[in-house]
Amino acid sequence: MTRPANRLSQLPPYLFADVTRKKRAAIAAGRDVIDFGVGAPDHPTPRFIVDRMVEAVQDPANHPYAFGTGTAEFRQAVVDYFKRRFEVDLDVATEVLALLGSKEGIGHLPIAVVNPGATVLVPEPAYPVYVSSTIFAGGVCHEMPLREENGWLPVLEDIPGDVREKSVLMHLNYPNNPTGAVAPLSFFEEAVAFARKHDILIAQDAPYADLYFGDPPPSMLQVDGAKDVCIEFHSFSKTFNMTGWRLAFAVGNAEVLLALGKVKSNLDSGVFAALQQAGVTALNGMDRPEIKNQMEIYKGRRDLLVSGLRDAGWPVTPPPATFYVWAKIPEGTDCWNVATRLLDEADVVVTPGAGLGKSGDGFVRFSLCVDEERTAEAVRRIAKLSW
Ligand SMILES: *Cc1c(COP(=O)(O)O)cnc(C)c1O
Repeated sequence: MTRPANRLSQLPPYLFADVTRKKRAAIAAGRDVIDFGVGAPDHPTPRFIVDRMVEAVQDPANHPYAFGTGTAEFRQAVVDYFKRRFEVDLDVATEVLALLGSKEGIGHLPIAVVNPGATVLVPEPAYPVYVSSTIFAGGVCHEMPLREENGWLPVLEDIPGDVREKSVLMHLNYPNNPTGAVAPLSFFEEAVAFARKHDILIAQDAPYADLYFGDPPPSMLQVDGAKDVCIEFHSFSKTFNMTGWRLAFAVGNAEVLLALGKVKSNLDSGVFAALQQAGVTALNGMDRPEIKNQMEIYKGRRDLLVSGLRDAGWPVTPPPATFYVWAKIPEGTDCWNVATRLLDEADVVVTPGAGLGKSGDGFVRFSLCVDEERTAEAVRRIAKLSW
């Protein structure tokens, strides 16, 4: 019996296969490809974090299994960060859970809280893990379209009554990938009231909470009583250029974190203690110039790309947060055609919006993980194309 289980064939089709294949072929053919498709920082982890890790790895006390919800020191650093950054109090014993990346936590959450056949509310376009983790747990997805006219927020009144009654979990993601939108606290208030009324857990995914260009985005836990119905995921990956390290945490409802922790203790055996120590150093160093400077770099790239695309006739709006530009494409074409022609005629790779959800048609996603010189070169090439 070597055949994969049926749940694997229930995963949505991988829509980027064509773009990926063409990109590989272009690179293999020696073409000068500029890749805005990758949503991962292009800079190394800041030195002060690497140094702490090197030191921590050498301590034998860090070598055994680090079972449990996270070291006391790590959980306290999260509590301190939440107080400093959001003025939210967390209970260090029950309201913080260390994760091996937020994808891991989101991926395991439905096993902890979704019974087979239950409905999960997922935004679209979105990061694919909300859907795949639901499918793995035998849940059923109901999509909440994100549209520009609603500020890229789901319209909760549009969720049909029978769906509300069957729903047990709602995924949200602000600041948002792919749209770059920030949710105002008023939306979080509305969502918490909705969740309370319909007895739904909200999982708010916030890996970009500290990648912003204007006012700092809020945490959902700033809403009074949010902890009754909500957990929030935070990650070291994007803020600290630590994608490969695999470190994140969930905060919020103690009962849900206990359930998620129970799933995790059956599947993994905790986050490497040395990594948790490096994480403490990272969180406590959030205000260091290395981290602030990173935002200035993304901002420079954002402004260069947005103004270049606008000059080329694209009706693009600059994002207030994240390292994505969700670019509205020129009139009269679609996102697949734009992505294909950018690759074929300009050697520029972007993510077609509809590949992340059907409401993404009319947009392509550029990640800002390409330096200014290459971004400027891409803009020059794009300007030569007419649509
Ligand atoms: C990058 C990303 C993640 C993954 O974060 P990890 O902590 O590296 O697993 C989760 N959600 C969204 C929306 C992302 O863009």
